[in-house]
Amino acid sequence: MTLDTGPKGIAILGSTGSIGCNTLRVIESLGAERFRVVALGAGHNVQELALQIASHLPEMVSVDSEEAAHDLRARLFENDVDLPRIIVGEPGLIEVATHPQADIVVSATVGAVGFVPTLRALEAGKRVALANKETLVMAGELMTKAARESGAELLPVDSEHNALHQCLRGEKRSEVRRIVLTASGGPFRTRSAAQMEASTVSEALRHPTWNMGAKITIDSATLMNKGLEVIEAHWLFGFAPDEIGIVVHPESVVHSMIELVDGSVIAQMGVTDMRHAIQYALTYPDRHSCELPPLDLTALSVLHFEAPDLERFPCIGLAYRALREGGTLPAAMNAANEVAVPAFLEERISLTDIPRIIEAVMDGHDTQPATELATILEADRAARIAAALEIQKLPKPAPLVA
Ligand code: MG
Repeated sequence: MTLDTGPKGIAILGSTGSIGCNTLRVIESLGAERFRVVALGAGHNVQELALQIASHLPEMVSVDSEEAAHDLRARLFENDVDLPRIIVGEPGLIEVATHPQADIVVSATVGAVGFVPTLRALEAGKRVALANKETLVMAGELMTKAARESGAELLPVDSEHNALHQCLRGEKRSEVRRIVLTASGGPFRTRSAAQMEASTVSEALRHPTWNMGAKITIDSATLMNKGLEVIEAHWLFGFAPDEIGIVVHPESVVHSMIELVDGSVIAQMGVTDMRHAIQYALTYPDRHSCELPPLDLTALSVLHFEAPDLERFPCIGLAYRALREGGTLPAAMNAANEVAVPAFLEERISLTDIPRIIEAVMDGHDTQPATELATILEADRAARIAAALEIQKLPKPAPLVA
C-alpha cells in the first residue's frame, strides 16, 4: 500500500491506445510527486510500449502474445532499458489490474478484452478510472456490485459521464429530474439515409470534433457510441432509461448536462481534449491546474442543439431497447457491434448494415439474467457467432465509384 502522502500508483489497461497515451501525458504534467506508473497493459504495439517503459519504468507490463513479449525484450535489451516483469495475455492484464501498488487503475482497453481485468480491479478495491464503456454495457450490474462490496470508486473518463459526474457533485439525487448526454452527431449528422448507405470507411473515420481510436469513431458515426453511453450512464448514476436523454450538439463544447426538478439545467463545458476527463478521474476529489488552454467562449460565437434522428441512427433505439429489457441483452448487442464494426472497416459490409446485424442478433438472443460472469461471457460468445453468421448472409457491398 502506498502512504497517503506519497505518489499514487497507477496501472493502465490499454496503455498504447489513445486514452492510455493521454493518461501518461497527464501523469507527466502532474509530476512524479503525485503519481507514478507501476504497471502497463498493452496489446501488440511493442514499439510504443518500449518507449513508455523507458520513460516510466513500470514494475510489470503485459502484452497479448509470446511473440510480442519476445519483440519487447529484444527492443528493451537493444536500448539498454531494465526489463520489467512481462506477462502475456489475459492473465497479464489481470495482474496489471490488481497490482498491489496500484491505487488507481485506468481501464482503457477497447471492447470486451478489458472486461474481466476491470472487474478484478473493482473487486480488489482499486479506484477505477473507466474509459472502457463496453465493460459497463456488458456487466453493469456485476461491476457496480463489485465496487459496492469492496468500496472501490468508479470514476468515468468518458467525457459525457465525466461531465455528468461533475454536474451531479453536491446535488441530491432526488432533486435531479433527468440527465442529458450530448452527442456531436458524428460525420453523417447532415447526410441523407441514401448517402449513409454508400458512405466509405474513410468518411466514417473523419470525426468532426474528437480525435479517437477507430472503433469508437465508427461507433460515433452510427451513434451506437451514444447508445452504449446511455447504458453506461444508467449503471454509473442509477437513472432509469426514461430519465436519460440525448441532445445532438455538433460543437461538443457542452459535454453533458443535468436537469433539476425546478427546471434548472447545469452543464459542464470544456475544450474537446480527453486529458481534462482523465485528470479529473485521477485527482478527484481535488482539482489541479491543467496544461490545456482554457475554453474561449468568445471564439465559438454559437452553440447548436437538436434532437437526434432515430430513423437514420437506429442504434440509439436498439440501445434503449437493450437497457429496458436488461439481462444479457446489452452484452449481446455490444458483442454484435464489436463484430460488425471491424467488418465495416474491412469493407465487408456497409455502414448501415451495422444496425441491421445488431438488431438481428438481438432478436435471436435468448436473454438471461446478467448476474453471473459465466452467463455474460456465454452471451457475448453466442452473439459474436450469431453476428458473424448474419454478416455471411449479406451481399458484399458493391465497390464505390468515385
Ligand atoms: Mg463519450
